Amino acid sequence: MSRRAIPDAAVVGGGMVGAACALALARAGFDTCLIEARAPAPWRSEDEVDLRVVALAPSSATLLRDLGVWEAIAAARVSPYRHVHVWDAENGAALDFDAAQQGRDALGWIVENRLVQDRLWQALDAAGVRRLCPAEVRDFAAREERAALELADGSALSARLLVAADGAQSPLRGRAGIATRGRDYGQRAVVAHVTTERPHEHTAWQRFLPGGPIALLPLADGRCSIVWSLPDAEAARVLALDDAAFCAEVGLAGDFRLGRVVATTPRAAFPLHLKLAERYDAERFVLLGDAAHAVHPLAGQGVNLGLRDVTELRDTLLAARDAGGDIGAVHVLRRYARRRRSADTLDALSFDVLARVFAWQAEPLVALRGLGVRLLDRLTPLKRRLAEHAAGV
Ligand SMILES: Cc1cc2nc3c(=O)[nH]c(=O)nc-3n(C[C@H](O)[C@H](O)[C@H](O)COP(=O)(O)OP(=O)(O)OC[C@H]3O[C@@H](n4cnc5c(N)ncnc54)[C@H](O)[C@@H]3O)c2cc1C
Repeated sequence: MSRRAIPDAAVVGGGMVGAACALALARAGFDTCLIEARAPAPWRSEDEVDLRVVALAPSSATLLRDLGVWEAIAAARVSPYRHVHVWDAENGAALDFDAAQQGRDALGWIVENRLVQDRLWQALDAAGVRRLCPAEVRDFAAREERAALELADGSALSARLLVAADGAQSPLRGRAGIATRGRDYGQRAVVAHVTTERPHEHTAWQRFLPGGPIALLPLADGRCSIVWSLPDAEAARVLALDDAAFCAEVGLAGDFRLGRVVATTPRAAFPLHLKLAERYDAERFVLLGDAAHAVHPLAGQGVNLGLRDVTELRDTLLAARDAGGDIGAVHVLRRYARRRRSADTLDALSFDVLARVFAWQAEPLVALRGLGVRLLDRLTPLKRRLAEHAAGV
């Protein structure tokens, strides 16, 4: 690819979403550079499974396949889940999803964050992405037909479009003057990999408790990755337990569905909040990934939404280029922003409603919730639509 003086796009943030975006834009023929503050840790098969895993939906696998990296991810270490079983600790109501009933091999895949990021980064050079790492963007300004970026080392860079994928705290979102709305859940997600007495059966198990849900996600080595959302003080308490006491509490929280929990890795915890950007676009600037929307992990959709942003942005920019237009023009960015913001907002608010409804503890409301869950489980067409929505199809 010949280099123009000004790249088409400067993507800031090389997490899963930013790296996928840089690769997608480069593969679509845009001159792209990627700026990341911290070099990602390499993924090696002999290392312990990364504590951060995500449930990738079929739409995400499709994008990663389009980008030529899914095969390398799948060959390394992924675990398909073919069933989802969700149940309510307070009233016993349960909801089941099954891949075969959806005509699929899997409802999704549990994958290590570091593996996805590593395989994306490995593909960047061959796609012609210019990498600046470690490099931190300190500021930027829109100047006529370009965005002018200022890096922390004092150097400067321009691009026709600045794509901010710089995570939930997004310093660039603040610089662009874009406010957020949402709330702090007052919860932390405690994560660990645990060994259970019984096999996970390639099922994603999730039990809703009054303090928050616990998910047991199937790993390729037979263990489960837990994501246990707890009020801050409770999270601090379980983090401080010794391994045996922690295993006992995880077993209890999961209602011993997979038998006793017999071993655990060290734990980590992540604060949970809902944060939605008021807009996704500004002059020569767009947001995507967690920089645009940070959501509760109860539906396992954060990065899946981010990867849908990537697909939409690539397709919008391609359409603008094919029409002979400027990819950084206001109306182009607005089209991307309108489409993704409405879709992401709907999903984020639905997850928020779920978090609120499952926090109800008053008896009549608990019974009402049980009725709703049981009804939904029987309404096959509605359940199918929900599953298709989660799959991104
Ligand atoms: C416990 C938990 C479980 C989850 N489970 C799931 C799941 O099952 N499924 C799912 O889809 N999602 C899940 N998520 C959400 C998912 O992890 C996030 O949506 C995803 O990691 C966000 O990726 P990102 O690339 O947008 O941001 P990040 O991963 O935060 O990347 C942002 C990058 O930008 C860089 N950066 C920041 N500022 C600058 C700057 N000024 N200059 C240069 N670089 C900069 C940072 O160094 C960082 O690498 C979960 C989240 C949590 C907390």
